[in-house]
Amino acid sequence: MSTPALELHDRVPERVLAVVAHPDDLEYGAAALVARWTGAGAEVVYVLATRGEAGIDGMAPAEAARVRTQEQVASANVVGVSTVEFLDHPDGTVELGLPLRRDLAVAIRRHRPDTVLLCNHRETWGRGRLNSPDHRHVGRAALEAIGDAGNRWIFPDAGGGLPPHGGVREALVCGSPLATHVADVTDTVDLAVASLAEHRAYLEGLREHPMADPEVLRDWLELAGRQAQGRGAAVTFELFSFSARPGPTPALPDRARAGPTARRAPRRSRRRSAAPRSVAVAVAVSNPVTSHRPGGVRSR
Ligand SMILES: [Zn+2]
Repeated sequence: MSTPALELHDRVPERVLAVVAHPDDLEYGAAALVARWTGAGAEVVYVLATRGEAGIDGMAPAEAARVRTQEQVASANVVGVSTVEFLDHPDGTVELGLPLRRDLAVAIRRHRPDTVLLCNHRETWGRGRLNSPDHRHVGRAALEAIGDAGNRWIFPDAGGGLPPHGGVREALVCGSPLATHVADVTDTVDLAVASLAEHRAYLEGLREHPMADPEVLRDWLELAGRQAQGRGAAVTFELFSFSARPGPTPALPDRARAGPTARRAPRRSRRRSAAPRSVAVAVAVSNPVTSHRPGGVRSR
C-alpha cells in the first residue's frame, strides 16, 4: 500500500510540549523526531496523562507506576528530554472532560510551546484497528487545550493564575491515519530505538509479541522512509496549524479589570471570542505503519 503524497516538514521548533496518555506512546515513532529537534537545539518537555500503571499484565498497578515512571524518564533522556511530568489521571479510564483539558491548558501555559506533539486521537489506526479511549481522549483534550490556554477567560485561576499562552503554531499527532506531512529522521533512528529500549519492563511484559523487540521500530521508520520519496527513515504525521499570537499578551482593557461592573466581562468575552480563539490547531505526526496498541496485547 503506497503512502499518499505528503508534504515535507523540516521546520525545527524552539519549544515543544509533547502530550500523550502513557509511557511508551512517544517511543514508538515520535521520539525519532524529538531527537532530531533536540539535536538542533529545541527544548522539549514531556507531559503524560498517566503513569501507565495498567499497562503490564503481570505487574500490580502500584509497582507498574513506579517502574514505568523511571523507564519513561530514562527513555526521554536518551533523546535529549530532561523534563517529564505526569498528571496522574487513571490509566485505562482517562476521561475526556474539563479536568483533563484544564490540566493540559495549565501545562501549555507553564511551558509556553510553539509546537505541540501528540499521538493519534482518531477512532482507529487505519485499516479497521480501533484506537484506545485513553489515546483518543488525551489527544483530543490536548488539541482543545491549545485554544483554552490562549484564552484568559478559560480556566483563569488554574495553575495559580498563569498568564494565557496563545503562541502555539502547530500540533503534530503521531500515528494518525490521516497523515498530511512527513519528516526525515534518518539520522535519529538509532536514538529512537535506544529510547524505546529503555521501556524494559514494559517490553518484557509483551513477551512474544513483535512489538516487544525495539528493533521493530527501525523497520517501521525505514519503511515509512521508503514510502516517503525514498528517504532513509521518516515519521509521518497529520499537521494542524494555529494562528499563533506571538509577543507579549496585551494588557486587560480597563472594563475587564476587577470591579463591580467588570465581573460580567469574562462571560461576555468568552462567548464572543469562542469561535475564533478557541479553535485548536493541531499538528499530527503520524506513522501509518505503526499501530502501537495492537488488539490482544493491551486493552487500553
Ligand atoms: Zn498508549
